[in-house]
Amino acid sequence: KPKIITIDGPAGSGKTTVSKLVARQLGWVYVDTGALYRGVALGVKAANIDYENPGALQSLLDSLSFTIVTQGKSMQLLSSGCDITDKIRTPEISMLASTLSAKPGVRAALLGMQRAIAVEKNAVFEGRDMGTVVFPDADYKFFLLADLKTRAMRRFKETPGQPLDEVEQDMAKRDKNDSEREVAPLKPADDAIIIDSTALTIEAVVARIMNKINH
Ligand code: C5P
Repeated sequence: KPKIITIDGPAGSGKTTVSKLVARQLGWVYVDTGALYRGVALGVKAANIDYENPGALQSLLDSLSFTIVTQGKSMQLLSSGCDITDKIRTPEISMLASTLSAKPGVRAALLGMQRAIAVEKNAVFEGRDMGTVVFPDADYKFFLLADLKTRAMRRFKETPGQPLDEVEQDMAKRDKNDSEREVAPLKPADDAIIIDSTALTIEAVVARIMNKINH
């Protein structure tokens, strides 16, 4: 049975960087589940539907066809065969993904896809509800935290273009949406190991995770 590591946490907590490095060290695949929510957001935007209308949202979800291409530590997302990996990384899509992620139909549509990948390969899954909902029986569960200011600064450095105070406001808003939604809210699983990365380097966080896995 393939093994699963889940890494959850808020935006900018270091999940992506850390998950990729852990996957590389283990030789496992890396799966970024936020990309799927972003892919739905891009689809909603392109089709310009009224996503508050459940019927319209469901038809759109039924029409979407994603392919996840995992190649070691990187992952590409195709939508109906088109590579959308880069297009989904905008502030607008981040916010729309968060809004849509509160819709039960959206979460249900993505659940099966995520579990299907885990049937095939050992993988590191990063997201918001990996340890709580998608893989409650994961082999190892981690939850990363960091101060809002630290997370905003990290994101700002990665993707310049948006002013720092705006990055911070957007992050705070997404955290609130993601933590307060009724379905699969952002929170650590009861059995997750919580790591506060505010004062830690990436290497130190990776070392802590690898240490737990090797013991
Ligand atoms: O991780 P990332 O910032 O790319 O995720 C974008 C949005 O997708 C998050 O703000 C969250 O609302 C949603 N998401 C989620 N569940 C996941 C992964 C992402 O609700 N497992």
